[in-house]
Amino acid sequence: MTATAQPRSVTPDDASRVVRDHLWMHFATHNGVDEAEAPLIVRGEGAYLFDARGKRYLDGLAGLFAVQVGHGREELAEAAARQMRELSYFPLWGYSHPPAVELAERLANSAPGDLNRVFFTVSGGESVEAAWKLARQYFKLAGQPTKHKVISRNMAYHGTSMGALSITGIPGAKSMFEPLVPSTQRVPNTNFYRATEHADDYEAYGLWAADRIEEAIVFEGPETVAAVFLEPVQNTGGCFVPPPGYFQRVREICDRHDVLLVSDEVICAFGRLGYAFGAERFGYQPDMITTAKGLTSGYSPLGAVLISDRLMEPFQRNDTPFMHGSTYGGHPVSCAVALANLDIIENEGLYEHVRTNEDVFRTTLEKLTDLPIVGEVRGAGYFWAVELVKDKATRERFTAEESTRVLRNYLSKELFDNGLYCRADDRAEPVIQFSPPLICDRTHFEEMEQILRGALTGAWKLL
Ligand code: PLP
Repeated sequence: MTATAQPRSVTPDDASRVVRDHLWMHFATHNGVDEAEAPLIVRGEGAYLFDARGKRYLDGLAGLFAVQVGHGREELAEAAARQMRELSYFPLWGYSHPPAVELAERLANSAPGDLNRVFFTVSGGESVEAAWKLARQYFKLAGQPTKHKVISRNMAYHGTSMGALSITGIPGAKSMFEPLVPSTQRVPNTNFYRATEHADDYEAYGLWAADRIEEAIVFEGPETVAAVFLEPVQNTGGCFVPPPGYFQRVREICDRHDVLLVSDEVICAFGRLGYAFGAERFGYQPDMITTAKGLTSGYSPLGAVLISDRLMEPFQRNDTPFMHGSTYGGHPVSCAVALANLDIIENEGLYEHVRTNEDVFRTTLEKLTDLPIVGEVRGAGYFWAVELVKDKATRERFTAEESTRVLRNYLSKELFDNGLYCRADDRAEPVIQFSPPLICDRTHFEEMEQILRGALTGAWKLL
C-alpha cells in the first residue's frame, strides 16, 4: 500500500523544545531569550501568516523581502509539483533543461540594455559571490589581471559567505569572522537624513556621495579595482534612496576607470520598486544585476546574475569556462516556480499596482510623523523604513542601552503580539522596515499604521 506522507503536526511545545535542543536559528541568540520567544508559523495566505494557535499576522516584510505574490498561491505549488514529476533535478554543468532555458530567455528579454547572459545560483549571497568572481575572471581574461578589488557602501548588506560578507559594510556582522577576503573598500551611502555634507541640497549631496566612489577608486589605483556593488535602494540603515543624478554620476565614474557597476537587486528586483529591476526605476545601466528572493517569491530557492554581453566576450574567445557553479544553481523546480511567479506578476499587473499604490503606502506611514519618536519615513515602491529618534528636532539617536531596551526587547515583540510581522533593525540607524507582498493595498497599509501607532506610543513611554 502506498501512503501519502501527511505533514506531522508540530505543537508550540515541540517547537520550543527543539529550538532549545536542536534547531540553530539564523541571526538569533541562543542564550534562552530568543528561543523562549521563537514563534511557530505554520501557514500563509495572501498577505497574512498564521501561527500554531491560529493567530493571524500581517506579513509586513514579505517573509524576508521575498514573497512578492503573497502566500499560499496554488499556481506555484502546481508548477513545482509538475516539474518534480517531469524532471525533479538535473545540474547545469554542461547541460540545460527546459525551465532554465525558458527562464534565462525571459530574464534576458526583460533586463535592461545588453544584460543578455544569465548565470543561475541558489541565493542572493551566492549571486553576489558569483558576480565578484566573474568580475575577477573577466578582467584576467581581458588582459587586466590586477583588477580585482570591490568598492561597496557603508552599512550595506550583501550576504554572509566569506566573499559577500567581505563586501558587506556592517562591522558587527563581520568582526567575528576576520580576517575576511582582502581588497574591499567602503564608501558613504546616501543617508541624507544624517548628511553632514551638502545637508541642505539633496542633489549636491548625491553627487558628493557618488564622487566618494571615484575617490576610492583613485586611491586604490584604478588598475586594481574590478567592481562597485550598490543596491538601487540600500536596505540596511533604512531604505536609502539614491538622490537624483547619483547613479548617472556613478556610471560615468565606472566608465572612466573601467570598473564594473553591479546593481545588487536581491531585494529591489521583481517589483519591490514597481519595476522588474531597480536600475530601470532609477534609469541607469549596470554591467551586472544580482537577484534572488522575489524571483520565485521565496517559494523555492533561486538566484540569478544578469550579465552584460561585453563580459561574456572574452569567455567566447578563450577555451576557459567561468570556473564557478554549484549543484543546485538553476534547479529545475525553482526555475519552474520562477516562471509561474513571473506569470502571476505579469497577469496581475503587480508592477503597475505597486507604482499606483506607493504614494498611498507612503502617506499612510507618514501619518506617524505626528509621534515624537518618528524621525523620518523614507523609501520607494513597496520598500519603506521608519527611522526612530530620541529627539525629533536634533535627530538625537538612542543610547545602546535604550536601543536594546526599547527596540530589541519591546518594539519587535509588541508589534508581533499585535499582529504585525515586520523588522525593527538597529544595526545602523534604528528603523522599522516594511517590504510587504506586492498584492497589498490601502487596507493593509492602514492596518500597519494602526498597529505601529500603538507600539510606538508604548515605546515612547518606555524611554
Ligand atoms: N544582497 C542583498 C542586497 C540582500 O538584501 C541580501 C539578503 O537580504 C543578500 C544579498 C543575501 O541574500 P541571501 O540571504 O539570499 O544569501
